[in-house]
Amino acid sequence: MQGLMAKLRDMKETMLSLNGIGLAAPQVGVNLRVIVIQLMCAGKLVGPVQEMINPVITKTSTDIIGYEEGCLSIPGEYYRIDRPSKIDVKFQTLRGRYKRWHLKGLEARVVQHELDHLNGVLMVDLIENPAG
Ligand SMILES: [Zn+2]
Repeated sequence: MQGLMAKLRDMKETMLSLNGIGLAAPQVGVNLRVIVIQLMCAGKLVGPVQEMINPVITKTSTDIIGYEEGCLSIPGEYYRIDRPSKIDVKFQTLRGRYKRWHLKGLEARVVQHELDHLNGVLMVDLIENPAG
């Protein structure tokens, strides 16, 4: 697990140095189902950075919200992406324990965005006309 810990530390540093709020391992050439996200407190980006190992979305809300998203892999470009506003996500910690979180707002959006990266999906794949 030492290798994974070092990779996660690198991912967190990379994300923070680029002022990102989420990063997926494939974005930095790491072929693992791992993401890191900036947790929030009262809507502010002040929480710790959380790693999620093998994250799986187990439930999504039926209400869909559109919001302008950016991506560290596509600097300077922003697209309005529709996503469920709330999700349940299951993941493992570094100790291998399973956690289940209910997320809403920006945290729910970031997890969905980063999970897309694990599946090889970029936000430009989610919109009908990237040039428009
Ligand atoms: Zn991204």
